[in-house]
Amino acid sequence: MSLKTRESGAWSAEYLASIVDSSDDAIIGKTLDGVIISWNKGAERIYGYTAEEVVGRPISILIPSDRPDELPQILSQLRQGKRFDHYRTKRIRKDGTVLDISVTISPVQDADGRVIGASAIARDITAQERAVREALELREQFVSVAAHELRTPLTAIFARLQLIERRLGRTEYDREALARDIEVIRRGTDRLRALLERLLDVSRIKSGRLEIERAPTDVVELARAAASEYAEASGHDVTVQAAGAEGVLADIDAVRIEEVLVNLIDNAAKYGPKDKPVEVEVAADAKAVRIAVHDDGAGIAKDQRTRIFEAFYRASTDARGVGLGLHLAREIVKQHGGSLELSDGDGRGTTFVVTLPK
Ligand code: ADP
Repeated sequence: MSLKTRESGAWSAEYLASIVDSSDDAIIGKTLDGVIISWNKGAERIYGYTAEEVVGRPISILIPSDRPDELPQILSQLRQGKRFDHYRTKRIRKDGTVLDISVTISPVQDADGRVIGASAIARDITAQERAVREALELREQFVSVAAHELRTPLTAIFARLQLIERRLGRTEYDREALARDIEVIRRGTDRLRALLERLLDVSRIKSGRLEIERAPTDVVELARAAASEYAEASGHDVTVQAAGAEGVLADIDAVRIEEVLVNLIDNAAKYGPKDKPVEVEVAADAKAVRIAVHDDGAGIAKDQRTRIFEAFYRASTDARGVGLGLHLAREIVKQHGGSLELSDGDGRGTTFVVTLPK
């Protein structure tokens, strides 16, 4: 290809066309009636049609049927020489999917300054728009959870403090009653702290700042510690089986993985039968350690099986919670290069399986 024409020294049409084709953006030429006259490679990629398929056809094939007025308005403004800068709208691909695009549409003039057509340069912003929507949704949930879940323990703490003040105002006060008030306050602040840590973890994960401090850790010992601490604090029985995995070491962040296990055990106790123990099973092979947490509850409906891992998603609201446990657990395990999955099992209850590389 020659860059310039030999006769006039102007840039060659071939060269200019190749610049247009190398663009990631869709670059489309159309008449003032909205008939497509040129269509670059970017347009093929974004909209799914080849140039052969669309040149000569109306641009309206790209416009969703719920926006019938958009094209007439654009064309009428173009005739008056007006342009549209980074106009955000929706378009339809050949396969029927709806895209968010940002498009700049400019009138094209002839040598006498008459508007004879238009060019449209469009960028696919579907992924960006989705990310913005998700971030806004997350922020809304964040604020609403913070507002509701922080308020309850705070109200209890405040009421107890007032009570303590009144008790201390008397000449004689009941030490035991005071101790009970303080215990309520301690539980409330524990809840607040735990919730705050979770909210901070979500934000750390979103910004890639969740740090993992690995050290060789005896996984069975860790599972036993998590199980017995949980059982002691809650009164719910937890059994641990570890046939063949005794003494197996994995390079993990023990604090974070214990958090994951306590979370799964707590869910199993919350959503499983109250009178049956939660079963924890540790197994290992040459490469990985697997920890399964099982309960004999009602299980999880098929259509909820992926959503339960989303931040703030709750499939049942009859138990306390904010819908962050599984999300955080999965992210922590992922940071270890492992996975947290809901096992298909044998249809009996629910089993979550944590797999960690050794
Ligand atoms: P939370 O328990 O705070 O709602 P999680 O992220 O821990 O949040 O769990 C998300 C949802 O998954 C829960 O609301 C619940 O519906 C479902 N779930 C989690 N664990 C179990 C389980 N062991 N059995 C049945 N449902 C469960």
